Amino acid sequence: MNKPLIGITTFREINQRGTYNSLNYDYVKSVLNAGGVPLLIPLVDEKSASEYIDKIDGILFSGGEDVAPFYYNENPTRQLGGIDYNRDRLELKLFNLALEKKLPIFGICRGLQLINVACNGTLYQDIDSQVDKVLGHHPNNVARNEFYHNVKIKENTKLKEIFNKELIFTNSFHHQSIKKIGDNLIVNALSEDGIIEGVEAKNLEEQFILAVQWHPENLCENYPEFLNLFKLFVEKAKKYGDNK
Ligand code: MN
Repeated sequence: MNKPLIGITTFREINQRGTYNSLNYDYVKSVLNAGGVPLLIPLVDEKSASEYIDKIDGILFSGGEDVAPFYYNENPTRQLGGIDYNRDRLELKLFNLALEKKLPIFGICRGLQLINVACNGTLYQDIDSQVDKVLGHHPNNVARNEFYHNVKIKENTKLKEIFNKELIFTNSFHHQSIKKIGDNLIVNALSEDGIIEGVEAKNLEEQFILAVQWHPENLCENYPEFLNLFKLFVEKAKKYGDNK
């Protein structure tokens, strides 16, 4: 009864049959398994963002393309990947409206980067060319549901509470990462080379924001402790919905 409605952002996929708005089904499955009702948000004009925000109880910013460096006042480097301005504009609008309403927010991979940019932070456009002694973060031909590198979780963070471990293993599919941390966010996880692998709101009681650089949705089935991220987010969304 009264399961919370969880908005999940999608990406534009153009193939021979036309334009699609797509999402890896593991996001949907993880939200379902955590007790939420997933609602995919198509790439509509940002003017429609409030229609979605008014109806949902939590929002999950999913993985995907690079955020346009225009939104953090940088010129593109030659290693920048594909960008979608339509998606950037919509997601930035969704984020700002979610903040206004104190809607619980969860970010995964690009989602973490989008949240950081929306909070006035910046990104490394390409860690391989911009970060000294960076390790591997975007392997080719590696299963998405297997571990790749380890991540150190910081003390006194919500993430530490969730995993109750100092060191975990995660998958990794990103060539960008946070450079300057955004306002009112703190780092909760780092990889051995110093790459920021997770952030959360400074004051989680005031505004629930949790985001990770890896892909927990692909790990939940093999490693159920990763579902706890979704469970906590869905729980916060339920509380939000119950008080609406
Ligand atoms: Mn990584």
